[in-house]
Amino acid sequence: MPLAKYNKKRNFKETSEPGGKVKKSASKLIFVVQRHKASRLHYDFRLELDGVLKSWAVPKGPSLNPKVKRLAMMVEDHPYDYKDFAGVIPEGNYGAGIVEIWDSGTYNDIENSSQKVAEKNLKAGLKSGDFKFQLFGKKLKGEFVLVKLKDKGDNSWLLIKHRDKYAVDSDYNSEEQTPKNSPINTWLKENKKSAKKKSTAK
Ligand code: MN
Repeated sequence: MPLAKYNKKRNFKETSEPGGKVKKSASKLIFVVQRHKASRLHYDFRLELDGVLKSWAVPKGPSLNPKVKRLAMMVEDHPYDYKDFAGVIPEGNYGAGIVEIWDSGTYNDIENSSQKVAEKNLKAGLKSGDFKFQLFGKKLKGEFVLVKLKDKGDNSWLLIKHRDKYAVDSDYNSEEQTPKNSPINTWLKENKKSAKKKSTAK
């Protein structure tokens, strides 16, 4: 059953994350990148396909520099409605911490096909472990590829920017592109302060 893993990991009486329902965009396929402060700060990269969000955890966040390969660990499919989720996952729950939306938009195959053809191409790419697509986000634009690392078990992929007009040669740090009024940044600042207080209180 689609999303069974997603549902099993969560207690919907406690978390405000959406329940695992299959749903589809009416026209264009969508993507979202969430910044997630759990036990570790990371990014969650999600692409709609077949009524769910195919999902990868990207520890260092995406990069627009084609020379930088970002490790992306494939995780369980998330429901379509997760695209809008931002908030606090309460302590003691799976992924406890803070989620905020870092980027979102539509996406398509490299040829910019109509939705039906695109879904077929994208599914084939995903299956082959050479998953090419283009993003139409606010921060992430242009062609990318997710390449499966065949000798590293089932879940390890690399997220790489293709060279195009949106690529950059400079260092790209997704942490410098965080949303205004980011609740995660507020949390990090407060936590740093309290860590300092603790260490000087000795
Ligand atoms: Mn996450």
